[in-house]
Amino acid sequence: MDIVDVKHNNRKKIYFYIRDQKVATKQKIAYDLNLSLPTVTQNLEYLVQKGMISDEVKEQNRGGGRNPVAYTYISDVMVAVGVEITYHHIKTAIVDLDGNVIKYVHKRQLYERSDRYLQLIGDAVDGIIESGGVDPKKVLGVGIAVSGLIDQKKGLVVYGRIIDNEGMSKEDFSKYVKYPTKLIHDSNAAGFCEIWMSTEHKNAYYVNISNTIGGSVLINNEVYLGDGLYSGEIGHLNLVPDGGVCYCGQKGCADVYCNAEQLSDKTDGDLGLFFIHLKQGDEEVKALWDRYLDYLAVLINDIRMMFGCTIILGGYIGIYIKDYMDDLYERVNRKNSFFEDASKYLVPCRHNVEVVASGAALYFVKDYLDEV
Ligand SMILES: [Zn+2]
Repeated sequence: MDIVDVKHNNRKKIYFYIRDQKVATKQKIAYDLNLSLPTVTQNLEYLVQKGMISDEVKEQNRGGGRNPVAYTYISDVMVAVGVEITYHHIKTAIVDLDGNVIKYVHKRQLYERSDRYLQLIGDAVDGIIESGGVDPKKVLGVGIAVSGLIDQKKGLVVYGRIIDNEGMSKEDFSKYVKYPTKLIHDSNAAGFCEIWMSTEHKNAYYVNISNTIGGSVLINNEVYLGDGLYSGEIGHLNLVPDGGVCYCGQKGCADVYCNAEQLSDKTDGDLGLFFIHLKQGDEEVKALWDRYLDYLAVLINDIRMMFGCTIILGGYIGIYIKDYMDDLYERVNRKNSFFEDASKYLVPCRHNVEVVASGAALYFVKDYLDEV
């Protein structure tokens, strides 16, 4: 490590120490990080000047005398915006550097491939920044999450049959967005949010069960993109040879049996209503749920056998599955070859409606914190 790296590393250590502790004195930082006082002082001055920490809080000194200056972490010195585009909605979120959602807006808007729609994306971004009372200078960037296979490096939707977005680029989606942007696969955004906000998991597989099924491989707190475009695409694992036709053109994909529409189709597209009927004991709904859980158990066991890590159940199903986990654990355990207990590795998601938009925003937060 050369001298520049050492200096950078020290600054990073100090910043993350204060971030962790929320408040700390210069002496405590020097002691805990084993750094000299001049080094700590110099870095603190830099961070205060950058507005990343504050020196305004004076720590109480009970013994009397001069109060030592305590430095505090400022979580909203910068923020990031995330946009989730679905067939029926434009959802936007603002998150701070701790991943807290400062504001979330859920707007019903039918997707269409048109310039007018791209303008609506720009309006939604401007709207949330204004209504959130955020200074535009604080906005690190805007993560735009869409369905489809995304080449993140090129910023291009390579395959987009769920909504009609195939061939659209990051530049298209950000035509009316005035900030730096990234184009992100929706399941990866959701998975990234779950792993980034988690203190106990570093590796996980995030299953995104909404009206289609996606997933995200999360290794060491980052999304694993693989060498191609298909990392985590478990919706197209074959579950039933020669089974029902999938939107991808193949037969018997997991998506055909486990997507949320398999349930909500029973209640006119209202998934919440499906679970109300289930609680009320509707026999047809119960039978459908029973069959659904069996398919889901196979899929979960397949994922476990491939990755051997924690599995986070998210998407629309993740919102409702919490009350049915014991039943699901039993079904998954029956499929497991090694007598594993699914309650040890299968968890419902923590973050719900805002997860995709927040996760898309967090890509910018991560970049910012990496560069401290
Ligand atoms: Zn398929």
